[in-house]
Amino acid sequence: MQPQNITVIGAGIVGMATASYLQRDGHAVTVVDQRPPGEYCSFGNAGILSPGSCVPIAMPGILSQVPGYLLDPLGPLSLRLSYFPQALPWLLRFVASAERRKVERIADGLRALLSQTFDAYAPLVKSAGVEDLIHKSGYVVVYSDRKAYEADALGWKLRRDRGVVIDELDADGIRARLPQLNGDFRLGLFLHDHGWCANPERLTKSLAVEFERNGGKLLQRQVLGIDVGPDGPRALNTDAGSLPVEKLVICAGAHSNEFSAALGDAVPLEAERGYHLTYSDPRFSLPMPVMVPEQKCFVTPMEMGLRIAGQSEFAGINAEPDYRRSEILGKLMQRMFPGISRVDSTEWMGRRPSMPDSTPVIGRATQFENVYYAFGHGHVGLCGGAPTGRLIADLIAGRPSRIDLNPYRPDRF
Ligand SMILES: Cc1cc2nc3c(=O)[nH]c(=O)nc-3n(C[C@H](O)[C@H](O)[C@H](O)COP(=O)(O)OP(=O)(O)OC[C@H]3O[C@@H](n4cnc5c(N)ncnc54)[C@H](O)[C@@H]3O)c2cc1C
Repeated sequence: MQPQNITVIGAGIVGMATASYLQRDGHAVTVVDQRPPGEYCSFGNAGILSPGSCVPIAMPGILSQVPGYLLDPLGPLSLRLSYFPQALPWLLRFVASAERRKVERIADGLRALLSQTFDAYAPLVKSAGVEDLIHKSGYVVVYSDRKAYEADALGWKLRRDRGVVIDELDADGIRARLPQLNGDFRLGLFLHDHGWCANPERLTKSLAVEFERNGGKLLQRQVLGIDVGPDGPRALNTDAGSLPVEKLVICAGAHSNEFSAALGDAVPLEAERGYHLTYSDPRFSLPMPVMVPEQKCFVTPMEMGLRIAGQSEFAGINAEPDYRRSEILGKLMQRMFPGISRVDSTEWMGRRPSMPDSTPVIGRATQFENVYYAFGHGHVGLCGGAPTGRLIADLIAGRPSRIDLNPYRPDRF
């Protein structure tokens, strides 16, 4: 294979994993980002590594659930009224993707990608010396009662039908695994072969350090536009001048559609904002993460404390954070772990790069041979980062793809 000059826009987890895999193939790789690595959405996620996360966010019946979520001031979903007209085209596609037949297909695509999570991260974390960050001891999902669980029955069936190994737990089973959790939760599930990363920011930064140590170039610049010629992009216009490019990979998270549109691919991407609270001194720890589907959030034992992360807010990519959303997470934390110490807790808002069908865009641009896309991972960008990077490297090297790339095409809508 001929080594090539490849430029990656974005030093989030997807960009750094992609750059790392491309570098392993001997290419000369430059990563351009206006921020230091891992300081945008990849900074503050819940750290969950779930090879079985094949259930899209829009499921059959979503239309009847949304009003209830929106009306609940403590619920997991919010939509700023002033932003509604702009969000509407995306929301219509979101609802359209909730059809049963489509959901089965989406689940196949997500499972194919995410089943590679641990395998694809293994060589990267080994060479970066951060194997300590990756845990694979499973996690627990809890429901207040069987009725709540049954409302999600299709999602669990989709996972089981695709080989995800899940045990059902009663209240005693939950207590045995998570004695710190308040006994409100009557039914639980234990997901084998799942796990978490104890610090997503450190993971991304460590990949960047290793990338630079191996000769990769990391440029801290804002990309303002792309100079596109008849054969594709010739240069990036940046805040520090023009940067010539030969092959380009777009990994710019929730901003990626700004670039794909300039390259002829208008992709429906939305900044689905989420929040976290990290309790740096909660006075106890958890042996594994716990998910509460009724509030659509996770609590994860991070190396910097206990983190609760969740919420879906549609307010526009540039709107100021609304930290009332993280306070909702704080209230839930009190319910789950009464008396938890909030001393030195920190709050954060991040922008998930979300596609209406919960499926990322991975593959070649439709108009140009020298442009590739790797973005739109929504709720599963940490899980999907390394598998995506490996797929892009295979594609550029001309190796047969490990999985069918059709579900991730940029022109599927
Ligand atoms: C609350 C919350 C919890 C989550 N929990 C999980 C989880 O448990 N597991 C999981 O798998 N996923 C989770 N996610 C999703 C995950 O965090 C994202 O999917 C993932 O971080 C996306 O990575 P990325 O590299 O595509 O984007 P980003 O990390 O956003 O990186 C994109 C980069 O592009 C750069 N960029 C953009 N525009 C420009 C420009 N013009 N010039 C230069 N640089 C530019 C940005 O500065 C940024 O560094 C969660 C998300 C949130 C918000």
